[in-house]
Amino acid sequence: MPNYAEHAGDLPLPVILGTIIARPANGGETAMAVVVSALGGKLGVHLPDWLEPSLGNPAHRQFFHSWMFMVIVAVGTVWSVQELWKKAEELEAESKASWDSVLKRQKELNAQLCRFVAGGVAAVGLGVALHLLSDARTRRGLAPL
Ligand SMILES: [Zn+2]
Repeated sequence: MPNYAEHAGDLPLPVILGTIIARPANGGETAMAVVVSALGGKLGVHLPDWLEPSLGNPAHRQFFHSWMFMVIVAVGTVWSVQELWKKAEELEAESKASWDSVLKRQKELNAQLCRFVAGGVAAVGLGVALHLLSDARTRRGLAPL
């Protein structure tokens, strides 16, 4: 059964995916995207075991270690990232159309914020999926529901 350190080893992929999804425009924003993705990925790769700890818990591997939970997280992640991207694109279009420099900058920042949140959400989702996939390869596998 994978332990804490083995699950932590899955962290690089969520960080890379989250950073790509956050699509930062410059160097400073890239650093922030990496931080947000690392936090999201850290949460994701450990979330199932934080919700259902394995030590001394006979209920380990119930709902939060199930294929159903993986499907819910996957659908929720894809939907959230799409909605946040749509909102970011709307804000960027409004920013370009605006003549007011303060309003323009505010909409730009809000668009980047949406992209950071999308990157963080994607990192959580991929982290949870990687955790569950590595637990699924063990003898006990995952619960169906
Ligand atoms: Zn687990």
